[in-house]
Amino acid sequence: MTTPLLQLVDVHRTYQIGESSVQALRGVSVQIERGDFVAIMGASGSGKSSLMQILGLLDMPDKGDYLLLGQNVNTLTEDELAGVRNNIAGFVFQQFHLLKRMSIVENVRLPHIYSGLKGDFRQEAIERLRQVGLDKRMDHTPNQLSGGEQQRVAIARALLRDPLIIFADEPTGNLDTKNSSEIMKIFKELHEAGKTIVMVTHENDIAAYADRVITMRDGVIISDERRAGREPVAPATADQRFDVHGAKHVSLWQDGRFIGFMTQAFQAILANKLRSFLSVLGIFVGVASVIAMMALGEGAKASMQEQLKSMGSNMLSIRGGSAKIRGAAQGAGAVARFTFTDVDDIATLKSLVKSASGVVNGAGRIVYGNKNWSSSLSGVGYEYGDMRATIPTVGRWFKEEEILKRDKVAIIGVTVVKELFGNSNPLGKTIKINRINFTVIGIAPAKGFSGSQDEDDVVLIPVTTAMYRVLGKNFLSGIFVEVSQPTLIDPAKSAIDKQIRKRHRLKSDDDSFNIRDMTEIQKMLSSTTQTMSLLLGSIAAISLVVGGIGIMNIMLVSVTERTREIGLRKAIGARKDDIMLQFLVESVGLTLSGGVIGIIAGVGVSFLLAFLADWAVKTSIVSVVVATVFSAFIGIFFGLWPARKAADLKPLEALRYE
Ligand code: ADP
Ligand code: MG
Repeated sequence: MTTPLLQLVDVHRTYQIGESSVQALRGVSVQIERGDFVAIMGASGSGKSSLMQILGLLDMPDKGDYLLLGQNVNTLTEDELAGVRNNIAGFVFQQFHLLKRMSIVENVRLPHIYSGLKGDFRQEAIERLRQVGLDKRMDHTPNQLSGGEQQRVAIARALLRDPLIIFADEPTGNLDTKNSSEIMKIFKELHEAGKTIVMVTHENDIAAYADRVITMRDGVIISDERRAGREPVAPATADQRFDVHGAKHVSLWQDGRFIGFMTQAFQAILANKLRSFLSVLGIFVGVASVIAMMALGEGAKASMQEQLKSMGSNMLSIRGGSAKIRGAAQGAGAVARFTFTDVDDIATLKSLVKSASGVVNGAGRIVYGNKNWSSSLSGVGYEYGDMRATIPTVGRWFKEEEILKRDKVAIIGVTVVKELFGNSNPLGKTIKINRINFTVIGIAPAKGFSGSQDEDDVVLIPVTTAMYRVLGKNFLSGIFVEVSQPTLIDPAKSAIDKQIRKRHRLKSDDDSFNIRDMTEIQKMLSSTTQTMSLLLGSIAAISLVVGGIGIMNIMLVSVTERTREIGLRKAIGARKDDIMLQFLVESVGLTLSGGVIGIIAGVGVSFLLAFLADWAVKTSIVSVVVATVFSAFIGIFFGLWPARKAADLKPLEALRYE
């Protein structure tokens, strides 16, 4: 004797609801052969569905054994059971359980994605639809079909994997007589072609299609009758695979499986366009602000570095007045007055100082022809050109003897050139500076803006000329010193400090002068931009986290809403990981698309700021990559819990969820 197809031995099943318990099955033993067509009958609540769910591996007995092709299934894990369901069983439910957002051919194709088999099964799906007479309507959605048609789609889906057994629970329960008999005709044909069918019904005329009627009452079988002359139809083929592992070892990347998951995720996202859009708004704003902020930060940094470069390197700047009340120094408290003797003194510190140059500042009224312009006037020494990177590329720098002889020669900045000369060549022309004639010998290299100050709106003349001929001062405004090496900046500062105090007879706590180095300015500038970036960054991060929580919320709602879909997917063979992946891909899809529009908006905003507000911006590839990776990561992080929740649902409970 061959092993029976299905065999239950003294199966019990008790449902526990809080304190009370319902004994749905109390010792059922039954055997079903290949090619049988069984109708399970009985009053409502007699345990028909419970029995069928155990036979269909959607539920497990509390007590008793279930042998499927001779193998005890009690020992199988959840995922192995899913594999067996996918391979062996086809389900038809009273409520059809079609996925509304997919076309019917997609619905029929669904079991294939959990099978781990190659190919897309589209042809097979169309073939099954032809079998139930719906191939002409394969691109319609379930909502466009009548109840009977929907049930035929569900049958086509149950047939897709060519199952060994079809389980149908009240398949005609929601249908009128005409549709019912059409469905039953299909079952009859399937049975005649060799399929084993187990069907629950409480209607006699439906049960009349079956060869064998099992009647239940209060959780036990009270009769089991085979109609005369209706022996099981032997199946055309030998026993199918009993492959509990199913798709276990199939990689996500194989045969477009991942594409399949992606398509399904985007279908789900697009099925709720407004909701999806609102839920990614937080991510969108977060990513857009990260991008714009990083562009601003990078822009500020780049323009700062540009400025620092144009200031010269290893520079010290010595000025009269206290460092603390800089700017207001003149007039407030004592101010040290420097002369050329100080410059020469500093220049004698040979091991520390490369060069020193006195400067004097004032205002200049510059006239050329009928045009005049006010600019800042700087008297500079010979070394200033090298030190501050100011050697003209058009024209030339001052000669040493011009400075000694107080010559009336001038180097002008590009703003001054533009205002006075327009496009004509200023070299060799005579201009008036505070009513004194000067010859233009060069154009100072462009330096751009430093804060609000135009560094190109300058006129440079020899320091001696400035002091004695133009401004009428007999002391310097300050001294610039170039230290021989960056590492010597601090020793140079203290040596110069000591020297000045000695010469001017100042006490050690006298702050009538100050020495600043550029690294100090650099540090100050970069710490300001760093604080700014940190602040903006944390705001952006907070909005990303809030956005992520929004996503988590919407995914939880989505899992609850689609509990029955999850139940169905599990019934047709989805394992935990498949469900998990489905929802993760969906939440990552959401956050990623929010991220991508955020990137576009962020780049747009930074260009707008650059264009309208004239801010320095610099969008970097790094920020785009970081934002993309980060939004995907948020999708995974905040999608994980809802996805877990979905994956942990029991197929039976999920299917029964209302
Ligand atoms: P039938 O399909 O014959 O109408 P069922 O097998 O669905 O009957 O149910 C048998 C009994 O078990 C009923 O009393 C029902 O209320 C109870 N029952 C079925 N499923 C559950 C469940 N998941 N939780 C609690 N009670 C259940
Ligand atoms: Mg039932």
